Amino acid sequence: MTNTEQDRWSRVKGRLRTSVGEDVYTSWFARMDLEGVQDESVHLSVPTRFLKSWIQAHYADRVLTCWQAEMPEVHRIDLTVRTAMRCAAPTKETTVPAEQRRIEQANSRPASELRATAPVSASHDALGGSPLDPRLTFASFVIGRSNTLAHAAARQVAEGRRGDPVMFNPLYIHAGVGLGKTHLLQAVTWAGNSGSERKVLYLTAEKFMYGFVAALKTQTALAFKEALRGIDVLVIDDLQFLQGKSTQAEFCHTLNALIDAGRQVVIAADRPPSDLESLDDRVRSRLAGGLVVEMGSLGEELRLGILKSRVAAARAHHASFDVPEAVLDYLARTITHNGRDLEGAINRLLAHSKLNAQPVTLEMAEREVRDLVRPQEPKRIKIEDIQRVVARQYNVSRSDLLSSRRTANVVRPRQVAMYLAKTLTLRSLPEIGRRFGGRDHTTVLHAVRKIEALVARDISLSEEVESLKRQLQE
Ligand code: ADP
Ligand code: MG
Repeated sequence: MTNTEQDRWSRVKGRLRTSVGEDVYTSWFARMDLEGVQDESVHLSVPTRFLKSWIQAHYADRVLTCWQAEMPEVHRIDLTVRTAMRCAAPTKETTVPAEQRRIEQANSRPASELRATAPVSASHDALGGSPLDPRLTFASFVIGRSNTLAHAAARQVAEGRRGDPVMFNPLYIHAGVGLGKTHLLQAVTWAGNSGSERKVLYLTAEKFMYGFVAALKTQTALAFKEALRGIDVLVIDDLQFLQGKSTQAEFCHTLNALIDAGRQVVIAADRPPSDLESLDDRVRSRLAGGLVVEMGSLGEELRLGILKSRVAAARAHHASFDVPEAVLDYLARTITHNGRDLEGAINRLLAHSKLNAQPVTLEMAEREVRDLVRPQEPKRIKIEDIQRVVARQYNVSRSDLLSSRRTANVVRPRQVAMYLAKTLTLRSLPEIGRRFGGRDHTTVLHAVRKIEALVARDISLSEEVESLKRQLQE
């Protein structure tokens, strides 16, 4: 490559950087290389397929424009994935954001070959997916800081084709209630099933259990398994509800069979794999072995975006429905809880303005949504956090808390931590025992009672416990 080409490339990168901003630039373009320029086309390369398709889908025009600013004769950008060999060569820009790195790691796993697809049998339809809501598509999904990565990964999965190597498997998305998990999963299902030859099956964990149990009863477990093998993408929502030993064993088989056959599995749950207490270790580690993405709470901007998209959707059927900007701002500011309440608020305003044939005003909105405006949802406290904070307070290590050591300086903190785990989380005694180095539930119960009794009469301990609670709830 000539020097002028390299100089030009540097200038194009400078333009890109200015055009998309520093963050976006480092996330997506930092490792894009110039391979060469020929006549009207520029050949660029990136290290992974994920980067390639992401850039093509979102920034193709931008990249072309930046080139044209330097070389008006350019009319085409060819983007390819560098081979592993080239990939290993040191790159000039070395800062790779953590999220990017995680994606890369998921990408570099060897993709297993897709086995011959079993014909889609009749029992497949008998098994059936859970019902889908036609409104929950990518088009209506609003992207914000808290869900960018989850959205990108979901999109990527939805755009895969039969036989494509699978990039992250499973894709595991977790978030609290009403933060868009079901929306994203159904969007994947809609997109995957529309027009492509792939079969995407969306199941709630309950449906999975029900389907399996029903199949067993009618002795068609084999048919059920065959049916599962006939699908390209299995989407399971609310995995935290999966219960029962035999269901779990079956889930484990299904997961392994699908993943080994190179089929995509997408999962949503209200907690990370490590917190799925009732699942056995093998399943948990399998779940954690793909790409695990958390969606955070909805920021105000995102809430406003969701409200606007809801209003736009409502206006398709009710043209006269109009919500003033001030009302939208008010709702976005005050309904902080979750997406469901945002949807509820718009529905109420719509109903009210229709029934009373009145325009929406701020006063009316305040009145209508009063009960949706609630104090901040208490933070989800994790057992790890409790162990960390307690260890810090008592100047012991977290592994001391989990160890079998029985010296007084560890026993008391450990009991306090178990007590807090019981009172501040919804975890059961056996679950807590397991998370404290595999202790028995009776040990946990003993600790809880002990601290309860002590707190009642020992003021300084009671103050310590209160202070720990405050630290955890901050
Ligand atoms: P979850 O399954 O996580 O409990 P849902 O996917 O059911 O949450 O979302 C609750 C409501 O909020 C739905 O009406 C959904 O459409 C809406 N919602 C949540 N996040 C978004 C988003 N990013 N864009 C658009 N709507 C959203
Ligand atoms: Mg849901």
